[in-house]
Amino acid sequence: MRSGWFSMELKSRDIYEILSDLAKRRGLFWPSYEIYGGVAGLYDFGPVGVLIKRNIIEEWLYWLVYSTGLVVEIETPIITPRIVLKASGHEDHFTDPITECTKCGRVFRADHVVEEQTGITVEGYSMSDIWKVMIENNVRCPECGGQLTKPQPALLLFKTEIGPYKGAPGYIRPEAAQGMFVSFKNVFTVVRNKLPLGIAQVGKVGRNEISPRQSLIRLREFTIMEFEFFFDPEKSYEEVMKYMDEELEEEELFVLTADEKSRGIDRASRYRTLELIEEKIVKNPWMALWMAKGNRFLREIGIPGDKIRFEEKLPWERAHYSEQTFDQQVYTRKFGWIEVAGYSYRTTYDLDRHIEFSRSDLSVFKRYKKPVEKLVRRAIPNPIKIRELAKDKMGKIMENISSMDQEALYQELMSKGYIEIDGVKLGREAFIIKEEKVKIHGEKFVPHVVEPSFGLERIFYALLEHALSLEKDRIVLKINPRIAPYQVAVFPLVAGSKPEHRKIVDIARSLYRALLKARIRAFYDEEGSIGRRYARADEIGIPFALTVDYQTLEDETITIRYRDTREQIRISIHEAYDKLLELLNYKGKFKLNFDKYP
Ligand code: ATP
Repeated sequence: MRSGWFSMELKSRDIYEILSDLAKRRGLFWPSYEIYGGVAGLYDFGPVGVLIKRNIIEEWLYWLVYSTGLVVEIETPIITPRIVLKASGHEDHFTDPITECTKCGRVFRADHVVEEQTGITVEGYSMSDIWKVMIENNVRCPECGGQLTKPQPALLLFKTEIGPYKGAPGYIRPEAAQGMFVSFKNVFTVVRNKLPLGIAQVGKVGRNEISPRQSLIRLREFTIMEFEFFFDPEKSYEEVMKYMDEELEEEELFVLTADEKSRGIDRASRYRTLELIEEKIVKNPWMALWMAKGNRFLREIGIPGDKIRFEEKLPWERAHYSEQTFDQQVYTRKFGWIEVAGYSYRTTYDLDRHIEFSRSDLSVFKRYKKPVEKLVRRAIPNPIKIRELAKDKMGKIMENISSMDQEALYQELMSKGYIEIDGVKLGREAFIIKEEKVKIHGEKFVPHVVEPSFGLERIFYALLEHALSLEKDRIVLKINPRIAPYQVAVFPLVAGSKPEHRKIVDIARSLYRALLKARIRAFYDEEGSIGRRYARADEIGIPFALTVDYQTLEDETITIRYRDTREQIRISIHEAYDKLLELLNYKGKFKLNFDKYP
């Protein structure tokens, strides 16, 4: 039975408090460095949180990285030399507007304060434009009501030094992306020069956010799961169609376009993937394909489809590198719609910049199916004529001509009738015009890039909120078994000191060990009443529980209990492993019908 959690009478404040309490009590997450008072925007993940995070990463890798065979994974450093983030534009553009209270001295993100107090979105506005809105609406310090200063840009990069003494300046990466751009040529060679090619990375990034206050939603250090997808824009439609299976074609996405936004519409409309491509709502078909995959991924891990939407960013809301951006948002009761992923069409921006700054050739060679014959016309200097015209400047002029592009020289000569070098006019008669047919086998070009970029902790938070269910004051985390920290709990019904209790415990422990050996993420607990142990397992979302009881001693059967319905059935202990695998791979929506498994 699908729980009616969304209609539960829980106020948004309550759910957040329940979740924060659960998180700390059961080892999901808590503020870092707590014994020293904590640091805003930094969180630890506990034993249960770490497992859930890892499972989300696994699912992301499955859906986004390894499902097409087009994407490979790499790992690059967090510490980044300054030049890389200079080239990428982050050093100049990766800023947020800050404003300071002249009375209490607190610093705020100006766009957030404006939005909170006026409802006006000023994301991407210039400092003066934000200031104008602040003055017109009398925006004041949210803490003390004092006068705020004109916004200024604040760099969000964490600075560091590489090397202990007079080290070279560096930054903590704010995105994993630059590692992929900088290593593009190496990976491209490794995959034997094939496009399209996605290069993925899951790893930590640092952003010195201005005033992070929203738990896991705005962190100063978080995990990004992203890939840069390199392709030839001339072939993208035909290539995308090869990977567009029926399931993807039909995937339904809720999309709010920039055009609709600027017309005051704020409700997303439903589109099939193919419509996004055919109606040219996305500028490149690859972007639509990855958006569809991203939608599927979130649905698979447990976010309902109608709580996911894509919002296209307006030109001034986009990052400096982006030609088109869609934010993928999830509805949460505490924070409303939050962005969990961004899809940007980065075109050739990053590779071009790294070509310029590193002087490396990051272009790729595109071989034509058949060589193309081209007629090349060239103007070859006639030394006798040139000597007559140039006299003592002959040497210099010949040198000059030889460094010129011959085709361009020809064009200029034809259009103007002469070329002029160092004050000497050379007419057509100074050249011999030659026509030649040459075979061209291909051309070099800089691949275009689409980037899907997911924030792990935001997904983690959204997932927990959606999975959290309150049943008669008991918390049940109805999380997808693939994401659950443990796949199964093993309990002895009783754990006393009587001989038969000891036998029950022994059997339960060996069942537990056998499951661990078989690589099942099993959990064992013998403390307290069985009811309390079930409740503890439910709280952290363990989907199944195996219980060894008195009857086990007689007929070698145990019970298996399903978290969401609390149903139990008896199975042979020898079948436990197979049964579990069957249940874990069950394709339905976990509306388990235990009758099917007598
Ligand atoms: P925002 O507008 O919320 O600051 P962003 O547009 O800067 O986010 P991106 O640069 O697109 O975010 O980063 C990719 C993803 O990383 C986001 O979709 C989000 O899930 C996550 N993310 C970004 N900033 C943070 C943060 N401070 N804490 C946690 N996750 C974040």
